[in-house]
Amino acid sequence: MCQQKAAGTLWLSCGHFQRHMVTAIYDCMSVTCERSYVHPKDCRSRACIKVYGPDVQDIIDRVEDKCLQCQWQDTKAAQAQNKA
Ligand SMILES: [Zn+2]
Ligand SMILES: [Zn+2]
Ligand SMILES: [Zn+2]
Repeated sequence: MCQQKAAGTLWLSCGHFQRHMVTAIYDCMSVTCERSYVHPKDCRSRACIKVYGPDVQDIIDRVEDKCLQCQWQDTKAAQAQNKA
């Protein structure tokens, strides 16, 4: 299956990769993969692969913190505790 190369930030505290943009596509050259250049356009098969494989991570910077999603979840959890 094809993969996307994505440039992004690695958040070291939580280990999450934050994708900024896709910079390249790796074509798997399989006729049963709909993302591939060689897949026939008129193919009607439902068995063909439709999705990209896991991103190939191109880490452009590293931050000694949690990602915004995790920070937000921490804030939410703290708020819930304060209410209880
Ligand atoms: Zn593919
Ligand atoms: Zn197909
Ligand atoms: Zn995170």
